[in-house]
This record gives sequence, C-alpha cells and structure tokens, in this order.
Amino acid sequence: MFVVMTEGATEAEILGVKSQILAEGLTPFDHATNGHIQIALCGEIGNRRTELLQRFSGLPGVASVTQITRPFKLTSREFHPEDTVIRVLDAAIGDGSLTMMAGPCSVESRDQLLETADAVAAAGATVLRGGAFKPRTSPYAFQGLGIQGLRYLAEARERTGLPVITEVMESNQVDIVAEYADILQIGTRNMQNYSLLRDCGRVARPVMLKRGYGATVEEWLMAAEYIVSSGNPNVILCERGIRTFETYTRNTMDLAAVPLLAQLTHLPVIVDPSHATGKRWLVKPLAIGGVAVGADGVMVEVHPNPDEALSDSEQQLDLEMFRDLMAAVVPVHEHVRELYHPTVVV
Ligand code: PEP
Ligand code: MN
Repeated sequence: MFVVMTEGATEAEILGVKSQILAEGLTPFDHATNGHIQIALCGEIGNRRTELLQRFSGLPGVASVTQITRPFKLTSREFHPEDTVIRVLDAAIGDGSLTMMAGPCSVESRDQLLETADAVAAAGATVLRGGAFKPRTSPYAFQGLGIQGLRYLAEARERTGLPVITEVMESNQVDIVAEYADILQIGTRNMQNYSLLRDCGRVARPVMLKRGYGATVEEWLMAAEYIVSSGNPNVILCERGIRTFETYTRNTMDLAAVPLLAQLTHLPVIVDPSHATGKRWLVKPLAIGGVAVGADGVMVEVHPNPDEALSDSEQQLDLEMFRDLMAAVVPVHEHVRELYHPTVVV
C-alpha cells in the first residue's frame, strides 16, 4: 500500500509518516507524482493491512492510503504512473525515442570491438553492447576477455561517445563492471540470482534485467523489484525469448509481453531478437515486430565477421545487415511512436 500526502504536506509531516513506517518494521519509498508525494510501505504486511490502512489515513498531512494490488510494488504503474526515463551519457531510454543497443556477443579483441563500435555508431546505434564476462553453456567454450574486455569497451566509449552495456555475472564483479560500464546487464541465467539483484541495486548504474528463459512476467517484475527496492530505480527490462517446445528457433520471443509490461510497469522495455531467435535472418523481422508492439528499443548482436565469432555466431548480424536493420526499424518506430507516446498538447 502507499500513502498519498496532501499537496501542501510539510517536510515534518512527510518525515512523520516515514518514521511510522520504519517503526512498523517496513521500508518507506517515496515518489513525487502530480504535485504530491506518495510513500510506499514495503515489506511483509501480513494481516496488518486493515489496521495500517486506518492508522496511516489518520496521520497529519495524509490525503489517502491506497492499496497496490500487484505483488510488485515500486515497479508497478499503480504506485508510479509515469514512464521511467533513464538517462545515460547522451542517451535517453524510455522517453519515446528509439534505443538501439548493438555490438558483438563477446568482446573478442580490440580491433573486433572498435571496428564494430565505429560501424554501429555510424549507423545510428545509441548504446554499444559487448560481453566481457560470458555465461556459456559449456565450460570449455570461450568465457570472455574479462577485465581486458571491459577496458576495450571503455576505449570504444571514448571513441564513439556511446554508453556501453555489458553483463555482470557475479556479485564480486559488480564494482569492477560498474567502474567501466555505463549500464549493467543481468543475463537470463541470473534473473533470479537474488544476491546479484540486490548488489546491482546498490550501484549508481542503470541495470538491464533480461527475462529468465523460464520466467513468467510476474516473476520477472518481482526480480526487478529486488533491484529497485535495494535502491536503484533505473531498471530496464529486456525480452530475450523464453523456452518453449519449438525447436526451429533458439527461444520463443514473447511479443505480447511488451504491451503487457507497458500496462503493468513504468520501466522501459527492450527486445533482443538475436537471443530470441538464434538465427541471423530472423533478427530483422522480429526487431520490426518488437518496435511495432511498442518496445522502447532493440538489442542486437553485430560482428564484423559473424561466421568467425567466438560465441553466438549464427545469430550475429554483419555490419551491412545492421545498417539494413536500422533502415527498417527507424521508419516503423516513427510510424508507431504516437500510438505509444502521444504528444501531449498543453
Ligand atoms: C547476451 O546478451 O550476451 C546474453 C548472454 O544474453 P542472455 O542472458 O539473454 O542469454
Ligand atoms: Mn550472445
């Protein structure tokens, strides 16, 4: 539930509500909306609901107390109606613009990364991706360049001006990855790694949370809730396909999740047709599909020579294919943006 303060509530009244919340063993989170402050009561409320509702309604400066019907609270539209917009360097994610995250699956060498970075930047990418720590199904497969990969990513950012996103796989990597990268990525295999989620909630970097390949939308939002309730409001969700009985594609891209999330949460949503399909020729149509259903952006894997890539070779686009994809998705985004982000006429 959350407390809605009156428009003219004083600082002392706001602090009064927060200290009562703390005294209940709960955590207060505030959010300013439409000229007033709302304070969520997060924690195990149990059978105290009616009692708390009555008591908080009577406190000075309180206009009303509202229930949040969803199990995810801070990430819900009920508590936070307006879209979250994440700003990182010159990029804004979730503001109605089209975010295009592109780059290799893995950072393999300085030359490979810089060549890709220059090409995707010139083609209109807004964020550079590249894995330095790689979660591989086989322990014998290429595991990434680690810290050296992070250094190359930082160099590519200096050169192109693009913010960089890279995966963090373990809690003990969070600080070093946050030192080099602008956005931390949590991969599908780690979506319910709660200690990692909490640790990413404590850093001053946006986090892109990929959907667990076997996770429901609600489980995914509960995972996002771990990050936000640990102190980091800047979470991006990424639909990267879920596992179904289909075998012609690597995963099944859940396009319906995109408008569904827009209804349930204020967090921006990115689609990743590379991991969702596993096939290079399917990436463009699914990128178009994702943008058409209202995604805030697309993440795609791009490599100068995909056939020689050390990971995910079958799904990476070459540089020309990425230019072609950009030429296809930009007009689709222009066409549909008014549907999802109507211009407000004042
Ligand atoms: C990736 O983006 O490189 C990656 C490993 O993705 P996922 O976690 O979705 O498999
Ligand atoms: Mn990959």
